[in-house]
Amino acid sequence: MPPEGLTRAQALERLETFLPRAGSAYARDRNIDPGPNDTGHVSKLSPYVRLRLIGEWELARAAEKAHGAAANKFIDEVCWRSYWRGYLEMRPALWTRYVDYLLSDEAETTRQTDTYRAAVYGQTGIDAFDVWTTELITTGYLHNHARMSFASIWVHTLRLPWQLGAAFFLEHLLDGDEAANTLSWRWVAGLHTPGKVYLASTEAITTCSAGRFRPTGLARTAAPLASETLAPVVALPTAQPSPRAPSVLVVTSEDLGADGFRVAQQSIVGVAALVTGKAPVAAATASVAQTLAQQIGTEVRLFSSRAELESALTAFETRTLLTSRLPVGLTRTGLNSVLNDTGEPIRLYERTRLWDAIAWPAASRGFFAFRPVIAHLMALTDPGGFQDKP
Ligand SMILES: Cc1cc2nc3c(=O)[nH]c(=O)nc-3n(C[C@H](O)[C@H](O)[C@H](O)COP(=O)(O)OP(=O)(O)OC[C@H]3O[C@@H](n4cnc5c(N)ncnc54)[C@H](O)[C@@H]3O)c2cc1C
Repeated sequence: MPPEGLTRAQALERLETFLPRAGSAYARDRNIDPGPNDTGHVSKLSPYVRLRLIGEWELARAAEKAHGAAANKFIDEVCWRSYWRGYLEMRPALWTRYVDYLLSDEAETTRQTDTYRAAVYGQTGIDAFDVWTTELITTGYLHNHARMSFASIWVHTLRLPWQLGAAFFLEHLLDGDEAANTLSWRWVAGLHTPGKVYLASTEAITTCSAGRFRPTGLARTAAPLASETLAPVVALPTAQPSPRAPSVLVVTSEDLGADGFRVAQQSIVGVAALVTGKAPVAAATASVAQTLAQQIGTEVRLFSSRAELESALTAFETRTLLTSRLPVGLTRTGLNSVLNDTGEPIRLYERTRLWDAIAWPAASRGFFAFRPVIAHLMALTDPGGFQDKP
């Protein structure tokens, strides 16, 4: 079952428990998935990292402190998240094309097929795949190797569109991340690195599932890809000056505080929480906003519509919002639609964490080209701080 409540305390506890395995044991065993009832060899911290209840920098630094250079593999994997985020930020068209496809007639027609239904109900008859479908739906988590194999079977054996598989993952994963998910599916399909696809094999699945599965009939060649034009690369926005007016701090599931919101220099008159998405995520967002409001000595309002936000702004007597940077994805789309609804203009200021400000622009090409920035990230004095401008 998914965690009952997602809290920073749980994240810190889980990190502490996992830390002894974040060094050479992780490098050796991380691809082995003994199943959901075993502690396993990976941290299972992804839902907490996704919500920024804990920062990538906290995982990476704790591992480095405990293991030195032996933690490099774990730190690399942590930084894959930052890499994917930056890559999508610079290519937002990859996200909008994916969303457009999901709304297309072709997608709807595919959803009516027996193959699609069998896949999402876990009734394909393919050993491993059907078990993973149930595991995904009931726990909200899958091991990385299971995700790779699942996506490969979906695309190359079942010949279903990668976009529908990515949407199925995003619907059920508690760590569902628009960048890591969309771009990993594209990588498996062969769209990320030209000429490279991920083709799951019976042997790899048997080894990586610790002998639990031995699927047969898997595709030995990759499904042909529909050609697509390159997504244009856009410049990342520069840091905004801090608002002069008193502001409402908007808490969203993109950033639940990691190691603090650093609001001491800001004039915060209220807290508003955008509560959307899966129940545990909405509950965690509301809970963090409540705690934060108590710490600041103000009130909290929850909103998911323009009317609710207007009511909060009236109560707090300002039309200025301050929030952590909203990357490309569902939360940004949701808040934009609230802000663009008819009514008096509302000013939104976004603050970017230093970790993201350094990592994202470095994700312009492949991960190999990104890797040198990891040393820079690890050397930051305050990676969780914000790139505020006076
Ligand atoms: C098809 C597919 C879809 C995926 N969808 C998502 C998603 O929606 N959300 C998501 O967070 N990850 C996604 N991943 C990446 C990866 O599978 C998960 O981050 C990882 O399995 C989480 O488990 P963990 O916390 O035990 O990871 P650990 O191995 O313990 O790693 C620690 C942290 O590093 C980050 N991380 C590790 N590996 C990766 C990776 N390959 N890519 C990006 N970040 C990584 C995560 O934040 C993770 O919590 C996807 C991978 C594939 C192949």
